[in-house]
Amino acid sequence: GAEEAVDLRPLVKDCLVLVEHVLSKAEIAVESDLQDVPVVRIEAGEMQQVVVNLLVNASQAMKAAGTIRLLLRAEVRDGVEGALLSVRDTGPGVPDDLIDKMFDPFFTTKQAEGTGLGLSISQTLIQRAGGRITYRNLDEGGAEFCVWLPSAEARN
Ligand code: ADP
Ligand code: MG
Repeated sequence: GAEEAVDLRPLVKDCLVLVEHVLSKAEIAVESDLQDVPVVRIEAGEMQQVVVNLLVNASQAMKAAGTIRLLLRAEVRDGVEGALLSVRDTGPGVPDDLIDKMFDPFFTTKQAEGTGLGLSISQTLIQRAGGRITYRNLDEGGAEFCVWLPSAEARN
């Protein structure tokens, strides 16, 4: 696919609809604060793949129940306007020594359902669009992935 101008708010909403049945089966609540953000430039299907993988990872990490918090907001980085999507969950987080390995191809801690490719592919797709994907363990417990993309205007 080709890069195109993408409005992330409806795209993220579509991703939530796609995974709704998985989340409701596991009693996972979703709280989302989706603000207006600058239009970004990425292949929409690729961005959907990234967001869906983050949502599925979050729900798998929490197993039976928990909360996913989604925040979409504008963020300037190094003077460049862009959009930030934060995906938080109330699962166990990631052991410190695995945080870097997590983005390696085929790294998975899952028995059967894991390919270990989700984060590796996501990192490639986001970097190709000029953005960054980062991870941190939250102080209050749980995981947070941040995806930042520069505005389409900033990439011209
Ligand atoms: P897969 O989902 O197939 O295992 P990913 O590349 O999507 O592959 O994720 C790699 C690994 O990163 C997972 O197996 C898991 O160990 C860890 N991980 C990803 N997301 C989370 C999360 N939200 N909470 C805890 N661990 C996570
Ligand atoms: Mg995955």
